[in-house]
Amino acid sequence: MSRRSEILAEMGLSPIWRVRSSPGSAPAEKMESAVGWTELKQAVPACKACSLHQSRTQTVFGVGDENADWLLVGEAPGAEEDRLGDPFVGQAGKLLDNMLAAIGLSRRENVYIANVLKCRPPGNRNPEPDEVAKCTPFLRVQIDLIRPKLIVAMGRFAAQTLLNTDATIASLRGRVHAYAGVPLIVTYHPAYLLRNLPDKSKAWADLVFATKTMASLS
Ligand code: SF4
Repeated sequence: MSRRSEILAEMGLSPIWRVRSSPGSAPAEKMESAVGWTELKQAVPACKACSLHQSRTQTVFGVGDENADWLLVGEAPGAEEDRLGDPFVGQAGKLLDNMLAAIGLSRRENVYIANVLKCRPPGNRNPEPDEVAKCTPFLRVQIDLIRPKLIVAMGRFAAQTLLNTDATIASLRGRVHAYAGVPLIVTYHPAYLLRNLPDKSKAWADLVFATKTMASLS
């Protein structure tokens, strides 16, 4: 079974996966090549694996170039993201777009943006561990499909989830980590930067470091 198949099987979330694994259907292993963006984009909006499905307006899947070299991972949708269905809209999204533009990137070209959670926690509270555990397989499949050259984890939840650590952002910044063999750099979440303006210079340093790291990979 491929890594993507293992992830999907472990999720037990995809209706398509269940249909294809049902008695009388072809063996699940034979279906793995068909598990791609289309199936994932059907599975996420249908997901009711954690209680966040009860309060969401809609799921927020992710946006950008599905063949991107850059993958940016945030925490969870906020109110505007929940309303519009896109990640990183509103003030934090504008800041992110400006930061990307400063290093010559755009969210629609060679960049993909996704969150750890696909549904908004009520009142923008922090994600609960069980919600992260239930939702992370979707992100793992997205990473598997995109195959980015570099991942930028924005904020504590993205960094701790992808690196399987409880270390602080401050201790994780400034180094190249790895997620499943993909280089990963940690920086602050744009929403945090809006509340902590002095740390913007640190985030800029992180992006410069990420740009240099990407250049070294090419
Ligand atoms: Fe499913 Fe993730 Fe939404 Fe929970 S947050 S219901 S696991 S899509």
